[in-house]
Amino acid sequence: MRDQLYINGQWVRPDLGGYFDVLDPASGDLIQRVPAATEEDIDHAVHAARQAFNRGWGQSSGAERGGWLDALADELEGRQDALAVLEVRDNGKPLPEAQWDIADAIGCFRYYAELARELDARQDEPLALPDDRFSCRIRHEPVGVAGQIIPWNYPLLMASWKVAPALAAGATCVLKPSELTPLTALELASAAERIGLPSGVLNVVTGLGSEAGGPLSQHPGVDKLAFTGSVPTGAKIMSAAAADIKNISLELGGKSAFIVFDDADVEAAVEWIMFGIFWNQGQVCSATSRLLVQEGIAQRLLERLVDETRRISIGPGLERGVLLGPLVSAGQHQKVLGMIEQGRQEATLLTGGKRPAHLSHGYFVEPTVFADPADNSRIWREEIFGPVLCVKRFKTEADALRMANDSRFGLAAAVMSADLDRAARVANGLRAGIVWVNCSQPTFTQAPWGGMKQSGIGRELGRWGLENYLEVKQVTEYRSTEPWGWYLK
Ligand code: NAD
Repeated sequence: MRDQLYINGQWVRPDLGGYFDVLDPASGDLIQRVPAATEEDIDHAVHAARQAFNRGWGQSSGAERGGWLDALADELEGRQDALAVLEVRDNGKPLPEAQWDIADAIGCFRYYAELARELDARQDEPLALPDDRFSCRIRHEPVGVAGQIIPWNYPLLMASWKVAPALAAGATCVLKPSELTPLTALELASAAERIGLPSGVLNVVTGLGSEAGGPLSQHPGVDKLAFTGSVPTGAKIMSAAAADIKNISLELGGKSAFIVFDDADVEAAVEWIMFGIFWNQGQVCSATSRLLVQEGIAQRLLERLVDETRRISIGPGLERGVLLGPLVSAGQHQKVLGMIEQGRQEATLLTGGKRPAHLSHGYFVEPTVFADPADNSRIWREEIFGPVLCVKRFKTEADALRMANDSRFGLAAAVMSADLDRAARVANGLRAGIVWVNCSQPTFTQAPWGGMKQSGIGRELGRWGLENYLEVKQVTEYRSTEPWGWYLK
């Protein structure tokens, strides 16, 4: 396992020699120590990324970059099983989920390899102008050096959502993974080394938020900041970007609503509701953590939901048959249990709410369901980022929409109904960047990802993810042989 920073194609020790512990959330045991990058390390990494950009990566063809991205995908594919196990040890998630994440990460590199190749054909597209003395062509040029800061819930997948489109666009990267889950990002750096990716094109700096993330977001040599994480950190990144008007994109938190109408199939609803909140221990930005159920179906649905929730097998992610692993860290465990305590004052606890009796170590929490929280309660309004679902009932379609949209977040939402016209109407009325109809959470690399309101700025994935790292340039030419004739008559 790697335990150094990857800067300019070299494995290097941190400038001040500091390290931090990476723990296994299923046991709290040490996995390994990882370098704590400082301002100096960040400076070296940004400098290396700038040189790599100027040395040719920024001017290379999309076809060339597509080849590198495919090679990265091949390299990750060759180590797919080991990467999935490492992800479980680092993050805690059940192995099948980790296997899915790694396959998605590989798919993401392949997808952007294709988009990089397609970009060549889009370069220098003529733009029709209303004055035929002029011609105009449009270029899509890389943004430069990208500083990329990611969270811990999908470690390698979040890295690939950032790195793959940036490299496809011709940008160079300084990636800072979360201090809680840095291990697979270091493996990505290893893959870059093994394929001989030109030095400095991808730099991976592990470190703490304020000591490494802060200097990266403030560095004047960074042209673009791409951040995924919490709203408070997003606000800091935004003010750091303001100092020298950096290009930014922010993927922040959520408190997404799931509306279930009376005519929905109860069994299908129960399954999607559970997937929407218990998948990845509920540590999902788009988790549908606010359930709105129409009155006529509410009792039956809640009975089935509670029943199935109690059956979920909880344990270490590497154990066979486990569907709910530990939360990522002691801090997250405490935070979620604290919100549950608060919830006991604000709503009716239907199931869960504590550490499972059979798991005395590790950061485990039972899947938890609360009913009827007050409109202004914390558990209804704030992101918990754990396996905690809050349920409210509604009467009419208009009520459901109003309640769903009454949030400072706008990342995702889901609606379930047998009446597809109604579902489409509600989907159009939801103030969220992602809306699922008759399901919750399926995510495709091809489709845009991102939120409205305080859930963020910009979109990742799909062609929008590539545009994040491109600057649009017009080249306008005066073609007439006639003088312009403004000053010189
Ligand atoms: P976080 O904001 O605590 O940390 C995210 C990253 O920012 C980490 O790498 C951290 O080291 C770094 N960081 C912390 N302080 C910093 C600072 N002052 N300057 C620069 N960088 C700093 O978030 P988290 O706890 O890692 O992740 C959970 C949050 O991420 C949740 O709110 C979740 O909704 C959000 N999230 C959003 C999406 C999305 O696509 N919208 C996806 C995943 C997670």
